[in-house]
Amino acid sequence: MKNIVAFLFLISIVVVVVFFVLVINEKNKNQAPTIYIKRNKSGGYNANTLPPFGIVVNEKEKDNTALLHHELIHWEQYQREGLARYYFNYLIESLLHGYDGNKYEIEARANETGYCKKNYTECVRTGKATTVYNPDFRSYFTKVI
Ligand SMILES: [Zn+2]
Repeated sequence: MKNIVAFLFLISIVVVVVFFVLVINEKNKNQAPTIYIKRNKSGGYNANTLPPFGIVVNEKEKDNTALLHHELIHWEQYQREGLARYYFNYLIESLLHGYDGNKYEIEARANETGYCKKNYTECVRTGKATTVYNPDFRSYFTKVI
């Protein structure tokens, strides 16, 4: 009985969270994204697009228009495909081709050279990328995997 109550409680939490995300999605799916500036963004990332909430940018990159352009392309991908399809396809692309070979990322690297479109992690770490220089780019993630 105790386990059933705990299970129903957990399911209730999941339903409330999914409902909350879907309401935010309905509100934001046809809008320009909200930009959130975050101090000391962790994981070696400079910015992330998190549909349906918006775009999170590291404070030190807040005036970096090339980086914002990259993230805005991700926001357009979300608007083009819808919330669930975008996350599902992005995940499948990442599993099949990794971060550097993910077609959503390659599309977002519109202003990079041909080499950096396919080798973005190296280009960001070495300063060859036009969007951003960050020697610790994706360092947390590549240490975990
Ligand atoms: Zn990206």
